[in-house]
Amino acid sequence: MSKVYYASARVKKWKYSDSMPGKLERLLKEMGFSERFGHGEWVAVKTHFGSEGSHRVVRPVFLRKVVDALKAVGAKPFVTDTVRIKGLDYLEVANENGINHLSVGAPVVLADGLYGTDNILLKAGELLGEIAVASLIHDAPAMVVVSHIKGHILAGYAGAIKNVAMGGVSASHRHCGWKCGRGAMHAVGAGMLVWDSEKCELCYQCEEICPLECVKFTEEGKKFGYEDERCWRCGRCARVCPGEAVRLEGASDEMFMKSLAEAAKAVLGTFKPGKVIYINMLTEIQPECDCMPAADVPVIQDKGIALSEDIVAVEQASMDILRGSVPLDGSAATERGISPGEDVLFELYKKPYIIQVEEAERLGLGKRRYELVEIK
Ligand code: SF4
Ligand code: SF4
Repeated sequence: MSKVYYASARVKKWKYSDSMPGKLERLLKEMGFSERFGHGEWVAVKTHFGSEGSHRVVRPVFLRKVVDALKAVGAKPFVTDTVRIKGLDYLEVANENGINHLSVGAPVVLADGLYGTDNILLKAGELLGEIAVASLIHDAPAMVVVSHIKGHILAGYAGAIKNVAMGGVSASHRHCGWKCGRGAMHAVGAGMLVWDSEKCELCYQCEEICPLECVKFTEEGKKFGYEDERCWRCGRCARVCPGEAVRLEGASDEMFMKSLAEAAKAVLGTFKPGKVIYINMLTEIQPECDCMPAADVPVIQDKGIALSEDIVAVEQASMDILRGSVPLDGSAATERGISPGEDVLFELYKKPYIIQVEEAERLGLGKRRYELVEIK
């Protein structure tokens, strides 16, 4: 059984040690964080830089605490994510969201290079075949995965597994394109964008959101089209469409969740046991992913921070902590009539998110049974 270290977000004493940054410091100490990394060891601190307009990412102060703890033992951390929009623009987004060398105390770099094609093909499994793992993550001897926990239109719940799977893999590979990239998870076994003219209200949000500018409306702006060769199958166009007029043909929920676990296994397969630590920030739990063009108000109150060396255990514990929460007034959750005691993230999209952890356990990434070690 793995240990999951946890601290609540509630402040009961007006002391630094009771603050969230203070609690993260205490959690790191409690789990023996500094003993896991060596002098001179390069450590990837993997997070999600967010999106222009999506500001509810892991706040720089928490990344700084992790970087400082690594530097204290002489390790060499760098803060990283993979290309989700064009690389130079994505670094600007990171900076706008407050994540830069000055704020976090370490270089902020793209794990798959400015063009998102610095990656290495690794065998994933029966669903994905081969997958393009970002070079800097592939080559790093150690990693700390700092994840913002939130809902997700496809995954239902987005945490460490999704951060490692989607975020440790490039959008595209130099030779096999999206089929070995992140899009392979979005569209297991399929991958065409399908448009329904009857449902389209010609709002052009799909065109605006495309990171590659490959959506084009023809016939005087009345017919949807896209450049099939260049398209990453990121699914953003489909996700912002108000009437499901464009959709990415893809996997069943079950296949999608399983493909996340499969990709996570490929990404984590290059690390020696005990060299990856997972920090789940259960804060600003908004309904959608940080890659959307806006961050909605949280659906669940801030809960706290969970840490473990077991990705399955930390995800299971985080899901358990969130389940049965009171939906926040004025949020998408209450708007959809979700009641206190219901599983808010499940009810938002009816996605069986638990499959992610079940599959990750089946693939040997960790154990769902855990011991919660709570610091007060
Ligand atoms: S899936 Fe849509 S948004 Fe993403 S690259 Fe393709 S056309 Fe653009
Ligand atoms: S986002 Fe949807 S409704 Fe709007 S133009 Fe694109 S396909 Fe049509």
